[in-house]
Amino acid sequence: MTTPTQPAILHHTDSLPFGHSFATLPPAFFTRLMPTPLPSPYLVAASASAAKMIGLDPEEFSTANFVESFSGNRLPAGAMPIAAVYSGHQFGIWAGQLGDGRALLLGDVPAHGAGQFGSMELQLKGAGPTPYSRMGDGRAVLRSSIREFLCSEAMAGLGIPTSGVLCVTGSDLRVIRETPETAAVVTRMAPTFLRFGSFEHWFYSGQPEALKTLADYVIDRFYPDLRDAKNPYHALLAEVTRRTAHLMAQWQAVGFMHGVMNTDNMSILGLTIDYGPFGFMDAFDPGHICNHTDHHGRYAYDRQPDVAYWNCAKLARTLAPLIGGEEETRSALDLFGPAFSAKADELLHAKLGLQTSAPDDVALFDAMFALMRANRVDFTLFFRRLGELQIENPTADDPVRDLVIDRAAFDAWAARYRARLRREGSADGPRRLAMDAVNPQYVLRNYLAQVAIEKAQQKDFSEIERLLTILEKPFDPHPDSDHYARLPPDWGTRVAVSCSS
Ligand code: AMP
Ligand code: MG
Repeated sequence: MTTPTQPAILHHTDSLPFGHSFATLPPAFFTRLMPTPLPSPYLVAASASAAKMIGLDPEEFSTANFVESFSGNRLPAGAMPIAAVYSGHQFGIWAGQLGDGRALLLGDVPAHGAGQFGSMELQLKGAGPTPYSRMGDGRAVLRSSIREFLCSEAMAGLGIPTSGVLCVTGSDLRVIRETPETAAVVTRMAPTFLRFGSFEHWFYSGQPEALKTLADYVIDRFYPDLRDAKNPYHALLAEVTRRTAHLMAQWQAVGFMHGVMNTDNMSILGLTIDYGPFGFMDAFDPGHICNHTDHHGRYAYDRQPDVAYWNCAKLARTLAPLIGGEEETRSALDLFGPAFSAKADELLHAKLGLQTSAPDDVALFDAMFALMRANRVDFTLFFRRLGELQIENPTADDPVRDLVIDRAAFDAWAARYRARLRREGSADGPRRLAMDAVNPQYVLRNYLAQVAIEKAQQKDFSEIERLLTILEKPFDPHPDSDHYARLPPDWGTRVAVSCSS
């Protein structure tokens, strides 16, 4: 029997039913051009779940047609490559025109399990220069492509809105970054790759008509329910603000750091997009900066919600003329704080296995984070092991307690937590099950990705596949893979990631 996420007909690479919704926008929105061929490409990784979502037969992965098509060496039937223009604020400064400098949209295909959106755009990232490449070479490197592949799967596995990756192909073609590396192409999927910067582009270049065209396109195609609102543009800003706030709460709850939250990297659908120098928190440090080129810590872990709000304010500025009034615009933007707090509060309660809310919960959470910070406790392991705690049996605390150097401080906090659990009549067994369903055992720690990358650079792609299996189901036990949940080795805490990708 077929389920809604398993389409009855499985397509071949050349029978994907491409549509070209984005290309219905006026020509100023994009440039048509062909990908630059990638010499002697080989398949590095592919996602069967992504393929199923667009009704593509995973058997295709082993065909030359698939590898050539998703390297930019030939076009799958029906594809029509275009690069989109956008602008943006980078590190707080207006950067002017940017755009798809190394990404080419092939078109959109109907998708199953794509939530409310029902279709996925397929985009080749790293398929050569475009008119928007500025000084860039239009290429992506194998290292970053593998990181994007693994992290988008990991985020999807965690239940966090994200773009996806169908496959990564590689080539021995040399490209120069901080050191010489080799090229790769990532085939990304998202209902749309439109971003806040896509809107800023028309606002800052003084083209209100184009801005309206874009807003209408986004509403009609992705948020059709908002068309009935009294002021659809206000409703659009409110919805994007709300989604972005929820996304931030979800990032914070798993210790994810994006690393480069420029307005051109903020999805108009509230998805995690443009994976670059991201990281997951190891030892808890709220000020942790995962991008080593972010010298001032603009995108540090604890600043992400504020930065997202700042970015929403930039979007609000561009939409204000369509919305019609300062005050109305502000009322949509003002949703950010309450939406973030409500979601963060809900997620934190779930992480601690609390079913009810109490006035002193904030103090309990604050004390927990202070304990984690003072003792540099591993973020992922702490919450996962906290689920093993038993109300009346302190010896069950040993695994979580072991993560905290200051045992007395842990015991003091655990006593408060136990008292709180008793107050709501919490039962150990069901609470552990509930906590295990929200606190992952496995996240894509930088060093895990690094091991897979170094093997892939020797043409051994097996580690990517192993990681994929675990990260797709990060809440489940994987008995043979316990070591993937361990604390990072010493060298693993020093893996440096930058914007260079
Ligand atoms: P990012 O920081 O990766 O989001 O990229 C910022 C801008 O630079 C975007 O417009 C990208 O398309 C462009 N870009 C990044 N890397 C390259 C590259 N290697 N070649 C051309 N454009 C690039
Ligand atoms: Mg970007």
